[in-house]
Amino acid sequence: MEKVVLSERFYSLQGEGPFAGTPALFLRVLGCNLRCVWCDSPYTWDREGVSRYGTGEVDKGFAYSFRDFLDDAKKYDFFVITGGEPLLYSKIWEKWVRNIENDAIFQFETNGTFPPILKDDPRVHFVVSPKLKSSGNPDALKLDVLKAYLPLMEEGRAYLKFVVASPREDEGEIGALLDALKVPKRLRLLSVFVMPEGVEPTLPLAREVAEMALRNGWRYSDRLHVRLWGNLRGR
Ligand code: SF4
Repeated sequence: MEKVVLSERFYSLQGEGPFAGTPALFLRVLGCNLRCVWCDSPYTWDREGVSRYGTGEVDKGFAYSFRDFLDDAKKYDFFVITGGEPLLYSKIWEKWVRNIENDAIFQFETNGTFPPILKDDPRVHFVVSPKLKSSGNPDALKLDVLKAYLPLMEEGRAYLKFVVASPREDEGEIGALLDALKVPKRLRLLSVFVMPEGVEPTLPLAREVAEMALRNGWRYSDRLHVRLWGNLRGR
């Protein structure tokens, strides 16, 4: 039977982006196709200690089946399907979500290198986090893939969320990318987030990123879970 390999499954508050503050069941898959230097979940992939927070320790993971998903769908109304990169398992999620009859919300957190799935299912939302040069992935931006999310942004079912690690460089790169994607101004205000990188509750970059949001008419995202619990796993 098909299974997804998870690194973590836990109940907490969504800490970032448009649904911040919402109680959610988190399903964090093991594995990622990118290698961000500031990745805050390196235990999903970082055997070499590439990321700033990497220790070289990678979770072994555990199998999660459709039966588990069905059981969870009876108990939870809001799923955050994250990683690692959850869309490494696109075909499985597509099948599983289609086979669940409920009105839960399924929010995928993706790095924007895989196209959207379940585009006709109003329960499905995406928070897409394209990786800028400061992530250490110089070729991670996939314009054609990101364009495929634009119709869902118009529907209020997809958002862009940029992790800002180097405000000076990132600001210009974000602006240029939004121009290249032809994201309308009103969507930049409602559906484009900038969020400070960091796992310290003080979030040292927060004010700088907030100023960036004000300057450009983008939306600021805090990191509620980091403010509340620091870098604690399962929160
Ligand atoms: S895309 Fe996400 S999970 Fe993958 S390395 Fe970057 S921050 Fe980590």
